[in-house]
Amino acid sequence: MSELSFEFPDGSVKAFDDGVTAEEIAKSISISLGKKAVAGKVDGQFVNNDEPLHKGGKIEIVTGDSDDGLNVLRETAAQVLKAAIAANFKDIRFGESAADEDGFFVDTDKPETQISVDQLDSLTKSMQKLISQDLPIKVIFLSKEAALKQVAGDPYQTELVKESAHDDQVKFFEIGDFKSVAEGAALPSTGKVKIFKLLSVAGAYWQGKSSNPMLQRIYATAFNKQSELDADLKKRQEAHDRDHRVIGNQLDLFFVDPKVGAGLPYWMPNGATIRRTIERYIVDKEVANGYEHVYTPVLANLDLYKQSGHWDHYREDMFPPMDMGDGEELELRPMNCPSHIQIYNHHIRSYRELPLRIAELGMMHRYEKSGALSGLQRVREMTLNDGHTFVALDQIQEEFQKILKLMVEVYHDFDINDYTFRLSYRDPENTEKYFDDDEMWNRAQSMLKGAMDEMGLDYVEAEGEAAFYGPKLDVQTKTALGNEETLSTIQLDFMLPERFDLHYVGEDGKQHRPVMIHRGLVSTMERFVAYLTEIYKGAFPTWLAPHQVKIIPVSQDKHGDYAKQINDQLRKLKIRSSVDTRAEKMGYLIRDAQTHKIPYTLVVGDEEVSGKSVSVRRYGEKDTQSESLASFVDEIQKDIAS
Ligand code: ATP
Ligand code: ZN
Repeated sequence: MSELSFEFPDGSVKAFDDGVTAEEIAKSISISLGKKAVAGKVDGQFVNNDEPLHKGGKIEIVTGDSDDGLNVLRETAAQVLKAAIAANFKDIRFGESAADEDGFFVDTDKPETQISVDQLDSLTKSMQKLISQDLPIKVIFLSKEAALKQVAGDPYQTELVKESAHDDQVKFFEIGDFKSVAEGAALPSTGKVKIFKLLSVAGAYWQGKSSNPMLQRIYATAFNKQSELDADLKKRQEAHDRDHRVIGNQLDLFFVDPKVGAGLPYWMPNGATIRRTIERYIVDKEVANGYEHVYTPVLANLDLYKQSGHWDHYREDMFPPMDMGDGEELELRPMNCPSHIQIYNHHIRSYRELPLRIAELGMMHRYEKSGALSGLQRVREMTLNDGHTFVALDQIQEEFQKILKLMVEVYHDFDINDYTFRLSYRDPENTEKYFDDDEMWNRAQSMLKGAMDEMGLDYVEAEGEAAFYGPKLDVQTKTALGNEETLSTIQLDFMLPERFDLHYVGEDGKQHRPVMIHRGLVSTMERFVAYLTEIYKGAFPTWLAPHQVKIIPVSQDKHGDYAKQINDQLRKLKIRSSVDTRAEKMGYLIRDAQTHKIPYTLVVGDEEVSGKSVSVRRYGEKDTQSESLASFVDEIQKDIAS
């Protein structure tokens, strides 16, 4: 019998007979490890505990209490779910299934009517039955030919078998007479899964490509302990309540209609009001800080993006060019930098003009993968709060710090406190993705680091996250769903000034090359509104709230006129106010104003009419307070200004 050699995480190497299992290897180390082992990992690939191994490599023993152990439990639960689905629906086809730190999912495709949320309860019962029967989960290997026969009729499993890398042997899991292509490792019997929950159903394209058929993805999770599941469900509920897509729907902020186009949001009046308020704020703030605001076209001749390098380095993220039929090709811009370079180059520039700060609320288009799109968070058409500063070499550090200072001021105004800095460098292993100039990269990267160190700010360093033209400082925040996303960014660039042959006339009368700093303070309007919606949980501060005041007359007939008078007066003061004229009970109208998270609800009845006063209820408070109209106006104006 031949021998296999395994290397352990501590670097030691041991030989075992061909056909040894992960469990036997674990036992050979210690009896207790043997007991705790639930699976193995060979060269990073999961193997079942009792699966005979025929190849050596780097081995890890997976114990039940580890993250990998949880993954194996969830993979097992996915197999039980598949077996339950197969038992219920004869004509079912399976796409991919996978387990990760969030739980597990199984993709299905059922001819005619797809599986829906309504069926999750009965599927849960079927799973519980399989679990109580404690059926063995066997690993079997079939030759590719036999495997293709086994999955005949299911186009997705056929594709998976064809792609399967396991030499000529395809690994299957078998529960009773149900077989499915194995992904990962599973525990030895269905009874090992005890605590699980089927969560939701949503469409997912086969292999994540929008040109492929849409399958139904069943999301679920499994844990070792009930208390862990309970805590997880609570966290999910909180995340759901904060999710900007959920709030966006409740408050009627925006919508995306896949029929019109994925990632192309429509801003409803409420969302548009928030956006307009942010846009006005940021433009005013930038103008006050020496930025020159411009408007430039979203379309440009493709040659512009060939010259900038986007076409070579960023094409995957760009929409295909439009062939105009006369030899001209027009491109939707993925970034605004080349446009601002045109503005710079339109005049001869002098050193006296530097730093020259050009800014725009610039609309751009990026062909993001359909699976990555999410509400307003990640879209395909977006408007960036963009700015490009052109500086002399010796002005870089000061300008960088100025931008950072401005950014921190803006964050303060929006009450944003939870963020981290990330310095993004190029990937040293993969330099062909980037502009090719080692000296420029080293210089720019150490300049950014130097500026951060000088300011005494904490940051993490990330290789491979730089833009293709230079390193950057990103501000990272967390979404409600726990994903890390970039909000603001400051990027150094020695390349584009080179490519576009930019100059300024120096004090010496000679021509010099400027450096560009790209920066986005509040990111794209889309991502920023998504972010704010989540941190405020929809309760926008008064200055941003789409509706600031709702006036409710106790009786429309008797108090409607007074309500209208107040409304007119507030609107003249540019306060976003309206009267609720619906013939509903007052209690209902007040609750409705609270549900819509309107900062101030004013109730007016006999007393208020005669006393020229209002009864004020602030969002989130139970009590109402009677005030003169004048003092209310004073209060809300102060609130908005602060
Ligand atoms: P990401 O890593 O998030 O894809 P990026 O590094 O490609 O972003 P930049 O070219 O630096 O992005 O774009 C500037 C800013 O625009 C980003 O910091 C981010 O906040 C925002 N942004 C980028 N892509 C999107 C998108 N698809 N939808 C919404 N906002 C986006
Ligand atoms: Zn730029």
